[in-house]
Amino acid sequence: MAHLNAEIISIGDEMIRGARLDTNTQWLSRRLAEVGVDVQFHTTVGDTLSHNTDVFRIAMRRADIVVTTGGLGPTRDDLTREAVAEALGRPLTLDEPSLQHIQELFARYGRQMPERNEVQAMFPLGAKPIHNPQGTAPGIDVIATREDGTESRVFALPGVPAEMKTMFDESVVPAILDRSTKKQFIRHLVMKFFGIGESDMEQRLGEMIARDREPRVGITVSSATISLRISALASTVEECEKTIAVTRAEILERVGELYFGDGESFEQQHAVDATLRDLGQRLAVIELGRAAPLGDWFAGLGDSPAFSGGLSLGNHADLCRITDVQWDGDPGATGDQDETIQKCFDVVGQRFEADWILLVGDYPALQSDHDRVQPPEEVTFTVRDPAGGIHQQSKRLGGHPSIVHPRIAKAALMFLRECLAEAIKS
Ligand code: ATP
Repeated sequence: MAHLNAEIISIGDEMIRGARLDTNTQWLSRRLAEVGVDVQFHTTVGDTLSHNTDVFRIAMRRADIVVTTGGLGPTRDDLTREAVAEALGRPLTLDEPSLQHIQELFARYGRQMPERNEVQAMFPLGAKPIHNPQGTAPGIDVIATREDGTESRVFALPGVPAEMKTMFDESVVPAILDRSTKKQFIRHLVMKFFGIGESDMEQRLGEMIARDREPRVGITVSSATISLRISALASTVEECEKTIAVTRAEILERVGELYFGDGESFEQQHAVDATLRDLGQRLAVIELGRAAPLGDWFAGLGDSPAFSGGLSLGNHADLCRITDVQWDGDPGATGDQDETIQKCFDVVGQRFEADWILLVGDYPALQSDHDRVQPPEEVTFTVRDPAGGIHQQSKRLGGHPSIVHPRIAKAALMFLRECLAEAIKS
């Protein structure tokens, strides 16, 4: 099977001026790679008709598949329809069912459709509308035939990321699969890992991440958390799921000790939450220094019975003050103050009705120059288990300022998970 190649075009003055980051292209590139399409060009163009027409002409000449986002709205600067029609040398024609659909959407909200929205039902001759379940603007699916008889297929989608993503997954992927592989189904599974760098992960996975492997395994990293996305193409859903399960097992064999869960938005706090719920126990977190991401993340779990609350404090002396424990040490000291910490934990444990306590000290202040890499500094994690046992780990952590605090919080969660696993074992 010859690989199809693609060009992604992102349309809008916002992107050209630097007012908005083009995240659609990044997302589409990953998705296209998952369905075996080689993305060869990214193009960004502003809201000028002649520039758009040029860009479309070039893309139709050099790419089997052209995916565009933006410029499908009803306003004067939404030019995608016109540009596609002009590049194809075909007129725009009204598609009655699309017009009806748009009118119905307005009627549902008790509104008359403004006249200018009618333009959203106009399509280049021969094009098919792509259903947009979330918005008014349908997308455009049209095939351009080149002079040599070969074809380029254009999918024009709206700029709004949520609409674009749904339409791509629901309409564009099946169309591409049908054309490229005759395999109708694609299924994904995302596995999450923490505690390893991207290049080490790549090394340990070896040939598993080869681009032509089936199912394909893709790596992405976000603030030191690694996601492995398994994408399986097959003729049936069952077959997809079976090959995913085999690959998942193989991955766990190689890097299982760093794995904490499945799912795009699954994070370590979800894993901790699930374990504590199973145990019927509760956690309080204390964060010292210049950040408190854990409190934020646990609060994001909603009304979890496993999270009893969090404290964000400047330093150990503050912790003593609010727990009425005598403090006579150096505010920065940690390990040698075991007895004092124990007393503080007793008070926090009681007041929060918490079985487990996780103390992170200290998050460093970040330099105001936000692009300079923060040199590694020692940070200590202290966990008190339900039996009163104290577990401690110190790490030297640094990195780009945008990820230093989350990296510390994630390392603390990893240590807490190890303590939880230890407690479950014994
Ligand atoms: P609408 O019907 O909402 O006008 P549209 O197809 O005309 O949709 P645009 O007006 O170009 O799309 O963009 C709508 C919004 O979608 C933009 O304001 C921006 O928030 C977002 N957006 C557009 N393009 C991108 C992109 N490439 N990456 C991320 N966000 C984008």
